[in-house]
Amino acid sequence: MNTLFPQSTQLLSRSHYPVIVVGGGQAGLSISYCLQQHGIEHIVFEKNRVAHSWRNDRWDTFCLVTPNWQCRLPDFPYQGDDPQGFMLKDQIAEYVEAFARKTAPPIVEGVGVQHVVRGKSGRLEVTTSAGQFSTDHIVVATGGYDIPIVPAYAASLPAHIKQIHSVDYRNPQSLPEGEVLVVGSGQSGVQIMEDLHLASRKVHLCVGPAPRSPRVYRGREATEWLMDMGYYELTIDRHPLGEKAREKTNHYMTGRDGGHEIDLRKFALEGVKLYGSMAGIQGGRLEFLPDLTQNLDDADEVYVSIRRDIDKYIAAKGIDAPEEAPFEKAWAPESDPLALDCDATGITSIVWAIGFRPDYRWIELPAFDGRGNPKYTRGVSPVPGLYFLGLPWLNTWGSGRFLGVADDARHLAEVIGKRLAGADDGAGDAPQAAVA
Ligand SMILES: Cc1cc2nc3c(=O)[nH]c(=O)nc-3n(C[C@H](O)[C@H](O)[C@H](O)COP(=O)(O)OP(=O)(O)OC[C@H]3O[C@@H](n4cnc5c(N)ncnc54)[C@H](O)[C@@H]3O)c2cc1C
Repeated sequence: MNTLFPQSTQLLSRSHYPVIVVGGGQAGLSISYCLQQHGIEHIVFEKNRVAHSWRNDRWDTFCLVTPNWQCRLPDFPYQGDDPQGFMLKDQIAEYVEAFARKTAPPIVEGVGVQHVVRGKSGRLEVTTSAGQFSTDHIVVATGGYDIPIVPAYAASLPAHIKQIHSVDYRNPQSLPEGEVLVVGSGQSGVQIMEDLHLASRKVHLCVGPAPRSPRVYRGREATEWLMDMGYYELTIDRHPLGEKAREKTNHYMTGRDGGHEIDLRKFALEGVKLYGSMAGIQGGRLEFLPDLTQNLDDADEVYVSIRRDIDKYIAAKGIDAPEEAPFEKAWAPESDPLALDCDATGITSIVWAIGFRPDYRWIELPAFDGRGNPKYTRGVSPVPGLYFLGLPWLNTWGSGRFLGVADDARHLAEVIGKRLAGADDGAGDAPQAAVA
């Protein structure tokens, strides 16, 4: 493998490290940098290459939805000349790689961690594709987008209709000629729908419960208003939804071509066919829940409520900002469509954009709820020595994004530093201490 980090052989010659980091994406690199700041010895295992998911798991026209100024890796904020812009996928990967070059992490690329268990000695035993290691602290920074979700009933779709998950979507040309159904209206779904629509492909979209956000409102990026309003400092323990916030779908909008809102009603006027949530497949017949009207209304309600919050902030602060016309629905369905026949409509491909599940089956430690989700407080799990980083709402909205991972990484490095120094036995910070 062509690696930026040639010290692998030397790193692999030892079998014990005080800390092991799993994953060489922005989260793994951030914690590595923060551990270095504390002088804590560690090794990072990355099963592919640094920034792998940005280079390999995104479509060709992919760009950030969050503005470049929100890219704030620790002591390495975005330094380009377009802070209000939205980096394209190669630029994002280059930003992450530049951070890695600057911080020179003790990383071994091409080595995956396959199993973690508590050994008889009390240490964590870590099996990797390059052999066996032990450690006292392991930071899991593997991203949480491990298993692309496709419903079981997708198997009954006739074979002549191509189906892929959004992680495998690259561009309109790579889909067979004909009409395309995109299932899911989260950030990926709506952006893929727009990508196809702009390429003059006839698109159908299953609209789920995802909320939407304004892009620019009253003369400023909504994200800038939200930053000033303190939204990004809101921590999960103060969030009105509590830990349920972690399950919420992201607000949809796009950074494409300088960034804009996505109003699905306007796409409907331009010919995109909208349906409610997919309910099942009977042969080539697709069935939908009767929730299109409701889902469009709910997304707009969130959109309007964000505008309302910004209005209140502007009024409270006496800010001079241009007024905007109230939101009006550009279109509404006459009724909620319930079914569609693929062959009769000419649909030749389906893109499943309904998200991912994390896969932590390789961690044999009691740190998970019944659904396989890790338990932690700000990344510190109830199992001494086990930590998570880089997950959405780990602590704040920005925790699973470029904005907030630095704060969480600094926090974890501090916790680990104290524990290694014996100043913290690991019982105080976690929800409940438990030894495997
Ligand atoms: C479609 C999409 C759009 C997004 N858009 C934005 C956006 O606009 N702005 C924003 O700030 N964030 C965005 N995010 C969220 C977030 O920034 C990315 O998911 C980011 O890649 C998370 O970084 P990470 O380091 O936590 O995970 P990843 O970048 O996924 O890195 C994890 C690494 O761990 C490695 N790995 C996994 N398992 C193992 C193992 N067992 N052993 C060794 N290595 C392993 C993987 O190879 C990978 O390189 C988006 C996410 C997605 C999926």
